[in-house]
Amino acid sequence: MEKLILNFEVTGCPNKCRHCYCSELKSNRELIDIEEVISISKQFRDYLDIDIDVYLLQEQTFHPSFIDMIKRLEEEGFTNRNGKGILISNGIGIAHNSELAKSLSEFFSRVKFTLFGTEENHDSFVNRKGHFDEIIKASKLCKEYGVTVIWQIMLTRGNANDVEKLVEYASTEGVINFVTADFYYSGEVLKDDSFVPIEDDLLATNFEVYEKENSLFIPEYQALSSIDDLKKQEISKAAIDNLYIDSNFDIYPLSNINADFKLGNVKSDIDSVLEMLKDQNGLPPLVKRRMEYDLEELVINNIDVNSKEMHTAQTLFEKLVNIEMNK
Ligand code: SF4
Repeated sequence: MEKLILNFEVTGCPNKCRHCYCSELKSNRELIDIEEVISISKQFRDYLDIDIDVYLLQEQTFHPSFIDMIKRLEEEGFTNRNGKGILISNGIGIAHNSELAKSLSEFFSRVKFTLFGTEENHDSFVNRKGHFDEIIKASKLCKEYGVTVIWQIMLTRGNANDVEKLVEYASTEGVINFVTADFYYSGEVLKDDSFVPIEDDLLATNFEVYEKENSLFIPEYQALSSIDDLKKQEISKAAIDNLYIDSNFDIYPLSNINADFKLGNVKSDIDSVLEMLKDQNGLPPLVKRRMEYDLEELVINNIDVNSKEMHTAQTLFEKLVNIEMNK
């Protein structure tokens, strides 16, 4: 392991997106403190003797000290993608705090929001009415204060027809600079085949037309491959160099944030967690087992090569590991 990424859930979230493991929104007095984040991250850095990147996630813009947190991380040398120009956010904190929108430009040149369709589909996916409007509001505020806004559309089997409307909307409203597509599926979604788009959905979005005729749409689906292509790809063993620390300080491999994969608690027992990471033989059995799979074997054993499901290598790997482990 050359570098470790620690992702801290800093507040929880009022939405309940189907692909997300995030906790419920905490009250202000329960929020994670940046000094705790720094102290934990330093212990990882010192004990493992590697570089640590700290990312503040879900949902950093709700945190009343968000901007100060970014400054502290920079001071302590935890290279942070948030501090390097792009903020990935659900926009809610920004929509309800124009002062924050104003401060963002000091630290971020771009902000990226994810849409799961037009208003009805989007609000239904995130399980909270009004979130679509909050993203619109946040987008306008960011633009007003000079931060480039990127909309990322997560394509699902149910929203392909919304893509054209979203691109049009983005264009007429002038709130965004460009739109990208995203195909990252995780959590409950991986257990639900009816959610994952198939080739026909991709074609229905007219990606190529947008690419040629509308510079707003810059598809990022190069990462997306057919099953045949995936077979040729080398995928890293399910690494534990990207860890997720929830607001209770429980720590998990980023892609398996559920009880079966918990490595421990970094507040009550950081020593055991660090020891376990240094000596990977001490990892919980399920985590070790997950690290042993390789994509090619999983594809050969489980995938109908004629399937038209669209996945990135990583999400296909997650799906197949889930199938194997539940056998
Ligand atoms: S908005 Fe973001 S943090 Fe909130 S539930 Fe959805 S994906 Fe998770």
